[in-house]
Parts: sequence; structure tokens; C-alpha cells
Amino acid sequence: MKTAILSTGSELVRGAITDTNASWIARHLREIGIQTDRFVVIGDDCSHLTQTLVSLWDSHELVICTGGLGPTSDDITARAVADALSVPLVRSAEAEQQIKERFSERSFPMAAINLKQADLPEGCRILENSAGTAPGFSVHASQCVSMFLPGVPSEMKVMFHRHVVPLVAPRGRRLFSRSCRTFGIGESQLQERLMPVESGYPDVTFSYRAAYPEITITISGENDVQVNAVHREIQAQLSPFVFSMKNRSLPEVVGALLQQQGHTIATAESCTGGMICNELTHVPGSSEYVRGAVVAYDNAIKTGVLKVNETVLAEYGAVSEQVVREMVMGVKRLMDSSVALATSGIAGPGGGTPDKPVGTVHIAVVMNDVILHKKCLFKGYSRTKVKTASTWTALNMLYHELMEKK
Ligand code: ATP
Repeated sequence: MKTAILSTGSELVRGAITDTNASWIARHLREIGIQTDRFVVIGDDCSHLTQTLVSLWDSHELVICTGGLGPTSDDITARAVADALSVPLVRSAEAEQQIKERFSERSFPMAAINLKQADLPEGCRILENSAGTAPGFSVHASQCVSMFLPGVPSEMKVMFHRHVVPLVAPRGRRLFSRSCRTFGIGESQLQERLMPVESGYPDVTFSYRAAYPEITITISGENDVQVNAVHREIQAQLSPFVFSMKNRSLPEVVGALLQQQGHTIATAESCTGGMICNELTHVPGSSEYVRGAVVAYDNAIKTGVLKVNETVLAEYGAVSEQVVREMVMGVKRLMDSSVALATSGIAGPGGGTPDKPVGTVHIAVVMNDVILHKKCLFKGYSRTKVKTASTWTALNMLYHELMEKK
């Protein structure tokens, strides 16, 4: 069912409000097996709306339009639909009664202007609005059903469930979806690896969402067995980069593994400023395994609290393998945890040297008294991005260690 969502309102095109209606409707249509093909946003311009409707009716089978049903002069949806159908606006007795009922239920006096909301295109079907005063309506034109709902999101949602779902759900095709979350691989590299899988399954849709620092691949199709097979192939192709096949975040996955293996964790964070511990503690139930963190930003904290050797610090500098190894052991001892993570780096924009440019980060993980170390260079990254990349890299190192011990 070729579907378009049309959002009207000058506030939308001016950028004063964000069009959340369209994305909400598209998501809910998808749940009942209807894919949206197009979003259209236009201002309160009657002739523009009329032309847009005529063109959408030619090319689509379902149009869901929100906004412009109110009583004010900028509410022009009914007029535009009537013009597009070449029918007059007529006062609907059914709509008038609904409007009066809504006002009397709320004990609000009704202004005469509210009856404008009952002036609807001749021949339309009225859609009751139990959540507000403006009734919606639907019309048929060519092969297309169009449903007109209020712009106010709370009213639109009630009407969507009441009127749109029963009408269109029987025409939906159930889709099965799976996702795969990755870290540490770029979009083009990932695409290259998946190209053969993608071309082997033309009936399965692949979508890629890069939200730094992760890339999530979502696949969907009508055949569940096929979707599962593709899901497994994706895992095989991307295996070192995949941390969740069940749409869980990296801190959630790491937390679950720590808990399953009976570990506790502590962090010693210089350049990440507590971000790793913050991510870990976003996960509900993390008090079971998170012991705490030391934000050892100042060298005095590294030596005083974490007991980093002063000579080592002076000889190698705070951003070094030697110091981060001492930090990780120091916090493990201090917090009496079985696992610990530590970071020390130059987040920039200043502070870099030819030896240690901005973006140099040392990360250490200790588990079962074995220390793993990694030196990273996040070249050209902003300060925030260096912190995020360091946090995710540390969590990812731990994830791989925990998976090996599983
Ligand atoms: P009203 O009776 O309030 O005039 P209406 O159906 O005419 O209802 P609009 O006037 O277009 O709707 O919008 C009312 C309010 O609803 C807007 O000010 C805005 O806050 C919200 N709104 C409208 N359209 C959208 C949209 N596409 N996404 C999110 N919010 C919206």
C-alpha cells in the first residue's frame, strides 16, 4: 500500500516545531506492516496544499495528513481538500453535534467560530475526535484513501489508533526485523563486507544507522526464516565488530557478562572524566557489579589516591602505557574489584606534542590479574569525540575479554 504522510503547518516549515507526527505515524504504520514511502511538509498555504493533495492522490494509495483542522484562519485543510476534490465545503450536522458535545463535556463555552470545524468537504466521512474538539475526516480520490487528523500529537495518536489502524491493518504485510549493533568498523568498510549478503537476499531490506560511535544494521523482510538466515550471515561477516544481535547497548552487554561471570568493576579515568562509569551505571541493576570510579584528572590524584609511582609518572608522563597500567592496578586494589579499566589521554584541542599528539589515549583493562593495554590515536577528533571513542574502546576491550572467558 503506497503511503505518504503529509504534515501541514507554517510552524513546521519555519522550523519553530519539529515534525514528530510524521515519524510517529510512520513507526506505527510499520508495526502493522505498512511502509511509508514519502514524508511531505508544507506551510499553511491553501493552493499549495490543494496541488500537493492532487499529486499525492495520483501516486499513492494512502495519505495521512495532520494539522490545520482548527477554527482559526490558518486552519485551511478542509478548504484545500474540497478544492482538490472540486466539491463545496458543507456544514456537517454530524460534525457539528460532535463539536457541541465535546464543549459541553468539558463545560467550556463554545465560540461561534468553532463551528467552522464542522464545515467539511461534501461527501467526506467524519472521524470522531474523542480527545479534542476538531473532528477529522477521510475522503476517497482516484485509488487513494486520505485521512485528515488534527495536528495536536495527543489527539492525532488517539485518532490514529481508533480510525487509521482498523482501516489499513488488514492491508498490511507483517514484517520481521532483526538488528545487529557494531563498534569499531567504518560505514563503507561495513557496507563492503555486507554487499554479497545484501545482493544474495533481494527480498530482505537492509538499513544502516550510524550514531557515533556505533553502527546498527537493521534487516527486515516478510519471511522470518530468511530474515534469521541473513541475521546469522551478518554476524559471521562482521564478527569481531558485533557486540549485540539483540539490540542491546555495549554497556548493557558488558554489564550482563560481568554479572554472569560474578565480577565487580572499578574505573580509573583521566581523559574520560568518569564517562565509562557513567555509561556502566546507566544500566539498571548495575549496582550489582559496579564498585566505583576515581576521576584521576590531576597527577596528584594519580599518585595520591591510585598510588601511581611518582618516578614512573615523571619518567614516562601521565599519558603512557606505564602510568595507565599503574592506574588500573591502583583502582582495582582501592575498590577491591575483580575487573578494572583505566584511561589516560590528550583529548585536546591543546596539550599535544610531536611525541604525543592530541587524540593519543592509553587504555588498560585488568581481569584475573592480567593487564591488557591499548594505545589509540583518535586523530582529528573533537574533544567530546575523543572521550566517547576512548570510553567505547575501553568497554569494547573488556567485552572481548569477557567473551573469551565465557
Ligand atoms: P488546533 O485545533 O490546535 O488548531 P489543528 O489540527 O489545526 O489543531 P495545528 O493548528 O496544525 O493543528 O497544530 C496544533 C499544534 O499541534 C501545533 O502548534 C503544534 O504544537 C502541534 N503540531 C502540529 N503539527 C505537528 C507535527 N507535525 N508534529 C508535532 N507537533 C505538531
